[in-house]
Amino acid sequence: MFQHLRLTAVSLIGLAVAACATSPLDRRQVVLYSDSDMARQGEAAYRQMQEEIPISSDANQTSFVQCVADHVVNALQESERGRYSWEVTVFDADQANAFALPGGKIGVYNGLLDVAVNQDQLAAVMAHEVAHVLANHSNERASQSTIRTAGLAAARILGASDTAVELIDYGANLGIFLPFNRTQESEADVLGIMLMADAGFDPQQSILLWENMNAVSSERPPEFLSTHPSPETRIASLQSMLPGAYERREEARLSGRYPDCTYVRR
Ligand SMILES: [Zn+2]
Repeated sequence: MFQHLRLTAVSLIGLAVAACATSPLDRRQVVLYSDSDMARQGEAAYRQMQEEIPISSDANQTSFVQCVADHVVNALQESERGRYSWEVTVFDADQANAFALPGGKIGVYNGLLDVAVNQDQLAAVMAHEVAHVLANHSNERASQSTIRTAGLAAARILGASDTAVELIDYGANLGIFLPFNRTQESEADVLGIMLMADAGFDPQQSILLWENMNAVSSERPPEFLSTHPSPETRIASLQSMLPGAYERREEARLSGRYPDCTYVRR
């Protein structure tokens, strides 16, 4: 029995060491799952949401959101753009929320359009969500969860390797919807403001967006408010990134990136 325990611990450590990666900002990460596994899970969850949550039938809304998504995705490095089949869906739901799942599946709740009041503010949200995907944040959360769960189980005397496999699956299932931690949120803010600028959107608008968001955040905070430092800290940190972001936006404009997505409200 003791032997089994040691083997499990050793193989977990082996797995973790083998799966050490770095985020786009050079932060060390433990990612246990393959990109294609995460993408498959993201897509499955997305298809389920498309069946269960009503989808907006407002063509103005849909084409506006699609337009912003296209600009954001087109600003990605070719390797990032080609990594997934990017897709966006506008859900008919009051909540001011948005998400992007592993595999490049983006969801926007149309309640968000009352808070993100122009193309640049919507781009700020979308770029932040896309940044979570590019930085493998769900994989990282799932992996942390698996290590924690497996560690607990090992302490309760775990022997069979198929149990370990089940635990890993369990962790991966949770990973898709686990909340991001503060480090990941800050990372998505940094990557997000640069990505929106690369697409030619106005980075200053990200600050106005988060101000709007703070003004409406109620009892159930959306993804992008849940685990973040205080609004003041976030805004101060975005402010400090503005000069760099404007430089990138200038480059984007020089290469002809002038997004012009309009939304005619009904
Ligand atoms: Zn976030």
